[in-house]
Amino acid sequence: MEQSLIRLTHCQKNIFCFLVPEQCPSCGEELKGSRLQEAPVSLPCPFTNGHKTSCCLLIAPAQDNFNRDFTGTSDLHTGISNTKGVVYNYTQTGVHKDQSGWEHSVSIPLVRPDMFHLLDQWDNYLDRFSDGPMWDPVWHSFHEDDHNCFSFCLNFVNTVLSAEGHSSLSKDTFTYNFILPRMRRVSKFTTLYQQVQKEQYYVVDRHEEGQEDSSEEITNKVTDISPI
Ligand SMILES: [Zn+2]
Repeated sequence: MEQSLIRLTHCQKNIFCFLVPEQCPSCGEELKGSRLQEAPVSLPCPFTNGHKTSCCLLIAPAQDNFNRDFTGTSDLHTGISNTKGVVYNYTQTGVHKDQSGWEHSVSIPLVRPDMFHLLDQWDNYLDRFSDGPMWDPVWHSFHEDDHNCFSFCLNFVNTVLSAEGHSSLSKDTFTYNFILPRMRRVSKFTTLYQQVQKEQYYVVDRHEEGQEDSSEEITNKVTDISPI
């Protein structure tokens, strides 16, 4: 996703494209010099370089389909970044501390930026937690369904929550409140992007029920609420 996706509005349509066209793809009117109802908006790409994040949950396609885009069905791999962008993640062979490979991820901030004492302790917590016997494949083997990269992340979040005197989050709460809203945005963005790649433009009626929301959801950043 090297090109940035642009949304412009003309003749009551939302038009998505990589380059503002000379003529409106919907009504054919010359756009050059004509007044658009609104200035074209560049849609923020929902992917981040995970190694430039700090204290985030990162979601990336699993290794075997790393070159594929998010489709909502492809396997996803999750990890947690420390304050230096090293990504801790659990696989069949134990906990890995990756310095590369997470350049194209969805990031979910886990800690409020004003929690200084916690940010100070984060790397220690993460190291201590990763060294625990639970994540050592010799002690307790990796299981795709219930002892996997995601349980590593969720357990870590809950360990920190408990150290901070808060109650823990269930898998469902964590998924529904923090992961799904972002993944929905990613999936909408990806769909639009592929449409534009294929057809050059993607046109939707501005007032069509539901359609407007889809691009609004992408344009407006998901409020960065963090669980800790
Ligand atoms: Zn038009």
